[in-house]
Amino acid sequence: MPEFDSLIYEKPEEGIARIWLNRPDARNAQDTHLLYELNDAFDVAVNDDEVKVVILAGKGPHFSAGHDLMENPANAKSHDRVGSWNASDHTGAEGHYCREKEIYEGFCRRWRDLAKPTIASVHGKSIAGGLMLIWPCDFVIASDDATFQDNTMYMGIPGVEYFAHVWELGIRKAKEFLLTGQPITAAQAEAAGMVNRVVSRDSLEEATLEFARTIADKPAFALKLGKDAINAAFHAQGFENVQRGAFNAHHLAHTHYRVQQDGSFIDRAFMERFRSGQGRGS
Ligand code: ZN
Repeated sequence: MPEFDSLIYEKPEEGIARIWLNRPDARNAQDTHLLYELNDAFDVAVNDDEVKVVILAGKGPHFSAGHDLMENPANAKSHDRVGSWNASDHTGAEGHYCREKEIYEGFCRRWRDLAKPTIASVHGKSIAGGLMLIWPCDFVIASDDATFQDNTMYMGIPGVEYFAHVWELGIRKAKEFLLTGQPITAAQAEAAGMVNRVVSRDSLEEATLEFARTIADKPAFALKLGKDAINAAFHAQGFENVQRGAFNAHHLAHTHYRVQQDGSFIDRAFMERFRSGQGRGS
């Protein structure tokens, strides 16, 4: 089995690969290294003919607290670039834009279109960037304690970098989710169509394996073709145009705060007011 620093990769049974996010003390916050490792792990699974379906799950109390805002990207371990934007070391808005284009938007779109089915097995909290590990997966099995939140509005940012809100929740619920920044429960996510099954916390691991078995007993080529046929709907429904526009708006906001606030890429002043109890309604 491949060795990773921030993940565990295993094959729990025939036809099934399982990737665990394994930074439990950091609530599986995603730093640059974890995201490149996750991309590598998906590639290991895709290139292994014994694997029919891939599970992504999280160790610790929460699935993922989002992107690791404590990380200084300049200190991140270097990895071979996967996309072709390749300018994350440039100054100004360019470097920041290109970094997020590769490791956030680029990875999410690549993972969504992996040529094998993927299942997110989710518990606890998934916040902001946490959604960007779940939404690209083909199926979501959630435990009844799971909650989902895009809190980027509290940072002055109009949504996470992978802008699938409308596809996950429908237009009206997507607006509520994004503009209020409030969490939704697993049951609400299931009602909106974002989650396939809600199970008890104790049975999440087995329920996910059971679901995976109903995929793993099908021919790999047919699974690949079926997934690709359904994913064609994203293209037909204009996902690329919505994504491009939203990503550019996201970076307009980042740049706005960089100009206003000595380089901070989010609205730290609002966040601090909010944290001290003065932000709501202001
Ligand atoms: Zn961003």
